[in-house]
Amino acid sequence: MTHDPFLPADPLAVIASYAQVNLIGGVRVPVGTGMAVTNPATGARIGMAAASNPGETAAAVAAAKAAGPAWAALPARERGRRVAAAGRALAAEAEVVARVLCLETGKAIRTECRGELAVAADLLEFYGGLASELKGETVPFHPRSLTVTTREPLGVVAAILPWNVPLVLMMLKIAPALVAGNTVVVKAAEEAPFATFAAAEILMQYLPDGVLNVVNGDGPDCGAALTAHADIAKITFTGSEEVGEVVYKAGAGRIIPVSLELGGKSPMIICADADLDKTVTGAINGMRFTRQGQSCTAASRIYVHSSLLSAFVDKLAGKLEKLIIGDPMDEATDIGTIISARQAGVIRSYVARAAATPQAIVLRCGTLPKDADLSPDLFMQPTLILGLPEDHPCVQEEIFGPVAVIQAWDNYEEVIASANATRYGLAATVWTDSLSTALDATARLDAGYVQVNQNLTIQPNVSYGGFGRSGLGKEASLEAMLDHFTRKKTIVMNFD
Ligand code: ADP
Repeated sequence: MTHDPFLPADPLAVIASYAQVNLIGGVRVPVGTGMAVTNPATGARIGMAAASNPGETAAAVAAAKAAGPAWAALPARERGRRVAAAGRALAAEAEVVARVLCLETGKAIRTECRGELAVAADLLEFYGGLASELKGETVPFHPRSLTVTTREPLGVVAAILPWNVPLVLMMLKIAPALVAGNTVVVKAAEEAPFATFAAAEILMQYLPDGVLNVVNGDGPDCGAALTAHADIAKITFTGSEEVGEVVYKAGAGRIIPVSLELGGKSPMIICADADLDKTVTGAINGMRFTRQGQSCTAASRIYVHSSLLSAFVDKLAGKLEKLIIGDPMDEATDIGTIISARQAGVIRSYVARAAATPQAIVLRCGTLPKDADLSPDLFMQPTLILGLPEDHPCVQEEIFGPVAVIQAWDNYEEVIASANATRYGLAATVWTDSLSTALDATARLDAGYVQVNQNLTIQPNVSYGGFGRSGLGKEASLEAMLDHFTRKKTIVMNFD
């Protein structure tokens, strides 16, 4: 299939085309009320998104429900082919969607937005290729009976997104849901909805009407209306711990499955035998400094063996100094803006609490932009904090900003205990040349995604999901599709 460009080339024209609409049943449906979306880098209003009320949200569920039986009845590989083709189409129009994403999130186009589009498109191709894995089993129950299990779709899936990496998180949810034969209503993130709409509309060219629908609105009116709707068969949510709890309760009220990807405070343990240069690069990648640290997987607690501490901090600070903080759309920029003034205030208050702590050292690296047309308050320097007690809020709580806590360690048992001592359990990394240390630490770290000598983000085919208050369920893998977007039926046939 060749893909004819669907979106206008100008990102502001794309944004204008989604003024106060939802995508329901294959068309743009106007909504009575709008909410302004601003470019965090400049403070300028870039568009009006839909502020859907419960009734407008329910219309999307009705469309998804109506489209369900025909979509589920298609051969799995046909669904897979369409989802994979949609992935290639998204890749073909990636640049304009990346620019929309840059405008609404303040993430730098070169270091973040283009890469996000590439992963989003790849996830669609990856899951498209897994369609024939929707297999059941034969069970040796009785020689004269045929006992099999089959995988069935669940029905209408509600996929609720946050603003930090909306397109990757959208595809982690909708690609397996669609390939498995479900229909979907996506609830976009109100701070950054337009790239989600643009990507969805490209995908919709490859899907029957109503199979994929997108609504926007605030949490209480739109998100809660979705989770409470009687025709939603499954909720998949990425966002804050607090809202995750509310969403889980909404699912419990109707006994439907809920997948949650919530916060994190991921430890990075650097052993004395680790390669210093690699750990510095790993810390910059792991902390997602080029995403302003706005990542649930951020390696935000760096435990460095005391023998390496000063060399590590010098090298890390030196490299961070060189990253360019500025206009996210500028090709030279490495680091863009925090998503909102509110979030920037939260981050600053954490740093202020650290600065007020005796013995703590706060290093702010890099230079803030001086351009008059950029919002001064939303740019922040990568910040390293040393010398905090383990029970300090900056060590225990998710800051969701460009702030890494660096703790020196000498005792291996103690560092493992510290690494496991938060309520989260999303990710952890260990840096060592010793296989026995790697085996021991990976077995003992209480996190769902544990890496040695690397700090990668979400990868297709690698199950990703947290323990503890970081959430429930896995994403990005075959297992994620089978376990979270199908139900297993057991059939026993007796012709004795
Ligand atoms: P973040 O702080 O990353 O924005 P939130 O947890 O506040 O995370 O929001 C994540 C998503 O959940 C957003 O799309 C938001 O609108 C939605 N949301 C917020 N409150 C609710 C709710 N009560 N029910 C369902 N969805 C909600």
